[in-house]
Amino acid sequence: MTEHVFSSEKIRQLQELLHQPKKIVITTHHKPDGDALGSSLGFLHVLAKAGHSISVVVPSEFPSFLDWMNGSGDAIDFRKHPHKVKVVLKNAELLFCLDFNDPSRVEKMQAEITGLDIPMVLVDHHLDPKPGFCNIQFSYPAIGSTCELLVHLLVALNLDHHIDRNAAECFYAGIMTDTGSFRFNSVTAGTHRVIARLMEAGARNYFIHEQIYDTNSSWKLKFLGFTLHEHMEVLEEFNTVIFSASQADMDRFHHEPGDLEGVVNYGLSINKIKMAVLFSERDNLVKISFRSKGSFSVKDIAEKYFEGGGHRNAAGGRSELSLLDTLNKFKALLPSYKDELNRES
Ligand code: 5GP
Ligand code: MN
Repeated sequence: MTEHVFSSEKIRQLQELLHQPKKIVITTHHKPDGDALGSSLGFLHVLAKAGHSISVVVPSEFPSFLDWMNGSGDAIDFRKHPHKVKVVLKNAELLFCLDFNDPSRVEKMQAEITGLDIPMVLVDHHLDPKPGFCNIQFSYPAIGSTCELLVHLLVALNLDHHIDRNAAECFYAGIMTDTGSFRFNSVTAGTHRVIARLMEAGARNYFIHEQIYDTNSSWKLKFLGFTLHEHMEVLEEFNTVIFSASQADMDRFHHEPGDLEGVVNYGLSINKIKMAVLFSERDNLVKISFRSKGSFSVKDIAEKYFEGGGHRNAAGGRSELSLLDTLNKFKALLPSYKDELNRES
């Protein structure tokens, strides 16, 4: 497998930190997705095999379609067990922050990780890491997923022989979900070489795909149908599609975490559409998911107007206005992006 080139100094520093068995905590962003949980649990398996003692901490619940990942039952949810999280962090000698690059992305857990006096290592693929957030930062926005980056890093650290089936399946899942099943422009020949390596380690592609995409509840599908039919607005003038989901609709359709995952992508499947956005009510906020095609950057809109960020073609944000006011605020922005949204690219 071709190696990714990392700074030899950073690799040396990390090897030094991992030289002796340590108590290590791995954490990731709020509302962990396949890449966040896959990278955390895959890394857990590898580091445990290398002799370390590992705890995985998540700032909030993950969707049930990730339950199959080995080790998911032992991930400590800060919202449910804040005291347990405080204890493992108090005893930790080293913290890994995976798939996020700004402490605000762990939401209510932020105070727990910013006050720590232990080495912190970042492994992430989002743009613009917060300077000085971690002591050693492996930040590679060109790589499609943190899981892919982590496998390259394990090769560079000479730890990839510890990738067993459990780790391989976690990493595979993260790469698959963050690349839209290997179809985004972030996918390279190197991505497929990593995938080949994971399959050689025993990852079952068919099993993972089935666990993630064929385990919907009937309510989830009904909610998808309802949202597409009742709450999809196509703004042809701006090549934009908007979806919205109110708390009342979520209650009606027995909403579970992850049920709205993927809805926004249906917008991009419409001919000529450049941007799709989902607005959903959550915990007295409106959570916003942005997706785009080509050179149009949703990260900039998320950052500038909705306290968020992410990648050029996939970003998130929030609004404290009502759902209706948030929709209106967004629509009022569109004329200033009209030319860009109508440009061929
Ligand atoms: P999603 O729409 O799936 O929640 O998020 C899409 C992408 O944007 C993910 O890469 C996610 O990490 C990032 N993202 C989502 N919400 C936020 C946010 O509030 N702030 C930042 N900086 N990134 C976000
Ligand atoms: Mn990711």
